[in-house]
Amino acid sequence: MAEIIDGKMLSKKIREQLKNEVEKENLHPKLAVVLVGNDEASKIYIKNKSKACNDIGIAFEEYLLPEDTSMDELLDLIKKLNKNEEITGILLQSPLPKHLDIKIAFETIDPKKDVDGFNPINIGRLEINDKAFVSCTPMGVIKMLEEYNVEIEGKTAVVIGRSNIVGKPLIQLLLNKNATVIVTHSKTKDLEKYTKQADILVSAIGKPKYITGKMVKEGVVVIDVGINRVEGSKVIVGDVDYKDVSKKASYITPVPGGVGPMTITMLMANIVEAAKQSKNN
Ligand code: NDP
Repeated sequence: MAEIIDGKMLSKKIREQLKNEVEKENLHPKLAVVLVGNDEASKIYIKNKSKACNDIGIAFEEYLLPEDTSMDELLDLIKKLNKNEEITGILLQSPLPKHLDIKIAFETIDPKKDVDGFNPINIGRLEINDKAFVSCTPMGVIKMLEEYNVEIEGKTAVVIGRSNIVGKPLIQLLLNKNATVIVTHSKTKDLEKYTKQADILVSAIGKPKYITGKMVKEGVVVIDVGINRVEGSKVIVGDVDYKDVSKKASYITPVPGGVGPMTITMLMANIVEAAKQSKNN
């Protein structure tokens, strides 16, 4: 039976460490969150982030712009936040309304304040294994593996999903840590052929209980990024059939209580790091 990688507990520990770091080093982290429009899910995410910031001692400022905000208005605000020395981190909440170009918006955020790691400069730095702000979910995945002493170097890591915010940065992080990385996606033929090779299997596809026990080998370490709402209920399940896969895995993350809490925690870590860098410059 698999050992559970407890993201909730690990998050609590890391958030405590971050809080101590902010106090000890007399840091003044301040996050500016920009939301355009009225997306209800985004509002909940922002509330959760605000609470996490508050617990750690990170000042939090919200910029709520109306749905009909123009691209120029959005970019003007981002540029103003870039210049504001009190603001050490900027987060642009996605999705943006359709008339706005999110790529240009991310490009405009100062890479030094880009705590989500979505600016192409940071993405490029990750690619060449340089110091960078990295997307929070893949960072959380690596942190979980490290905290549970799962060896990455020399292992075969199979990543299912290649999105810009999860799959792709994760592929790079694993590669930088000397895993042999196999990338799979919706056009992959015979997925099972690859998943069966995995020493470490990470699923980020958004399909409930898609990965079953027969698709993995004995002893595999499974990280389930997926968050899927069971139709007609409030129940959340991952991409992995937890019960079935647990019988063969050596480690597994639950959903909820696995990667989810780690994502916000890694955001907090990035915000504290940005504040540290801004103090030292
Ligand atoms: P995207 O929809 O952007 O990407 C999904 C990826 O999965 C794509 O690369 C797609 O392939 C691939 N895919 C889809 N179906 C299959 C399949 N049957 N077999 C193999 N690959 C497949 O999603 P995200 O990366 O944003 O998120 C993925 C999941 O992770 C979602 O459930 C999301 O809710 C969750 N998530 C959880 C977070 C957390 O904090 N725990 C944070 C972010 C996301 P292709 O490229 O070919 O289309």
